[in-house]
Amino acid sequence: MRTLTLLILVLALLAFLFAAGAARADNCSIDLKVGDSMKFDQRTVSVSSTCKSITIHLAHQGQMPAQSMGHNVVITSTDAFQSVANDGLKAGLSGNYVPPNDKRVIASTKIIGGGEKTTSSFAGSLLKPGAAYTFFCSAPGHSSVMRGQLLVE
Ligand code: ZN
Repeated sequence: MRTLTLLILVLALLAFLFAAGAARADNCSIDLKVGDSMKFDQRTVSVSSTCKSITIHLAHQGQMPAQSMGHNVVITSTDAFQSVANDGLKAGLSGNYVPPNDKRVIASTKIIGGGEKTTSSFAGSLLKPGAAYTFFCSAPGHSSVMRGQLLVE
């Protein structure tokens, strides 16, 4: 009888550890670093399909101001990326180079300059597992090189 109780306790502990491990594996944040060049520190980022909310963390570790070397993060489906990048230019720096109230924009941060950080959160339900998403910087001339792939796993 005592052996059985012990066995149940061990199994419960294993189940708990497994659940805790699975929960920890959920990746619900996108962390990107930029500097005084048109480059993100990563070409591919991934998030879990189970996230309720996903948060973008962008850090500009350079020196240059937003007017000359500002960066942001915009997420769209890969199909929509080019047209959103084009349309965003009209919004100007004050509009963070993102077309306002545009359904193609899944998420975006403001444009930041050297030494600044910003975050932006969006609903995980906006991303479908297996679909193709692109993250990019929509500052003028940046998106052609400053972009990467967002994977939903
Ligand atoms: Zn940029």
